[in-house]
Amino acid sequence: MKVHHLNCGTIRPTGVGTMVCHVLLVESADGLVLVDTGFGTHDCEDPNRFGRIRSRFIRPNFDRGETALNQIRQLGFRRSDVRHVVVTHFDADHIGGLADFPDALVHVTTTEAFGAMRSPSIQERIRFRPPQWAHGPRIVEHDIDGEAWRGFAAAKELTQIGPGFVLVSLPGHTRGHACVAVDAGHRWLLHAGDSFYHPGTLAGAPPVPKWTARLEMLVASDKQKVKQNHVRLAELYRRQDPDLMILCSHDVTLYEQARATAQT
Ligand SMILES: [Zn+2]
Repeated sequence: MKVHHLNCGTIRPTGVGTMVCHVLLVESADGLVLVDTGFGTHDCEDPNRFGRIRSRFIRPNFDRGETALNQIRQLGFRRSDVRHVVVTHFDADHIGGLADFPDALVHVTTTEAFGAMRSPSIQERIRFRPPQWAHGPRIVEHDIDGEAWRGFAAAKELTQIGPGFVLVSLPGHTRGHACVAVDAGHRWLLHAGDSFYHPGTLAGAPPVPKWTARLEMLVASDKQKVKQNHVRLAELYRRQDPDLMILCSHDVTLYEQARATAQT
């Protein structure tokens, strides 16, 4: 499947520098599929939707031109061509664009839907932004257990979308966080969402900058699990599977590498 790598929201967290919101746009047999949405047009119209204090710290661009909806139109597609959105988790910088695709099915782990929408803890009430799903998205929840995928214990093929989409459970950043694996033809992409922030986590070098590592732990729902996830992802990276590229949401270098090596 052809995969476009989009930056759907430049952010500049204090002390960290420029980051992207790396979104996958997949041309599947069942129409377009997004992996995460980044920020949406509603966030650009009303930045308070993201949270005023958070905006001061994360410093998003809120540029309409960067929204998935705008970039999809630039590529010659329509809003209604997007049939599915698979989300890694429900943080505001990942699902801000859901309201731009109200007819799409939104795939998420059951645990994440529970923690964000049904029974949020106090921390989750502060963390998640209900206005981003106030339009009533068509949520499809997935219980993930049993199936293994490349060393990860719990994964699920998203057969509702078609072959080549796998949701891999990797809680830690949030309680129901997942990675999304996509078959891009010449390679598999593992979009690891916010399971790691910097390529140094995988390769051991260059070292992860101090403020990037601090930010990652500051926003982790379970720090121990985040550290365990780093170990597992680094193990997978060291295997150097020739047909696998591991990505994350916010690193500029990995985003640019993915774009430069994408099949056109
Ligand atoms: Zn994020």
